[in-house]
Amino acid sequence: MDYNSLLTFCKENNTELVAVSKTRSVDEIMTLYNLGQRHFGENRVQEWREKKDLLPDDIQWHLIGHLQSNKVKYLIPEIHLIHSVDSLKLAEKINDVSKSKNVTTNILIQYKVAQEESKFGLDDQEENALIEFLRTAVNIRVNGIMGMGTFTSDESVLSKEFTTLISIFKRLKNEHFIQNENFKIKSIGMSGDYKLAIEHGSNMVRIGSLLFNSL
Ligand SMILES: *Cc1c(COP(=O)(O)O)cnc(C)c1O
Repeated sequence: MDYNSLLTFCKENNTELVAVSKTRSVDEIMTLYNLGQRHFGENRVQEWREKKDLLPDDIQWHLIGHLQSNKVKYLIPEIHLIHSVDSLKLAEKINDVSKSKNVTTNILIQYKVAQEESKFGLDDQEENALIEFLRTAVNIRVNGIMGMGTFTSDESVLSKEFTTLISIFKRLKNEHFIQNENFKIKSIGMSGDYKLAIEHGSNMVRIGSLLFNSL
């Protein structure tokens, strides 16, 4: 699908388009940049560091992949939004590093609802501890949640998972982040399922292959 049609579709649905540029070259990224794209997503810290130094400063970078605590120091302060906060340990590290650099870092809480992943998700106790910490972490801004559906084309499976993610968002908003006006992002949807995700209430999609394969 060409960039402009996808962008128009996202805008009509008040959805932010993050172009997932992992494994893509600096030239490919510049092609989208020159069409006006500014939000890009990467999943590996080192690959991102190498590419970002060769790219314009006004790109807003999203870290969308699994993140180890010992890599956090390489992300801050340049990263625009970390989508993959899935443990208390990681959140504490992000807060510490942000504090030491005197900045506030934007994050999303990642929820694992996909069939192949559900065994890695937060249990209730871990979730409570993470949320309690995030409610008062001074150097973190909690912007919402991120989630991924099962890798399947079965829309009934995806539909159920997206419904679960949206209800998690609403529960967190109402129970813990009602006063937090930054808590509004639902980062749900990729190349294969972004339309369904938007229908369910996503307002940020992370799209890689659909965009880059058509350049
Ligand atoms: C790779 C990736 C995407 C984009 O996937 P496509 O199917 O290429 O659109 C989105 N989110 C995450 C977390 C990813 O790792």
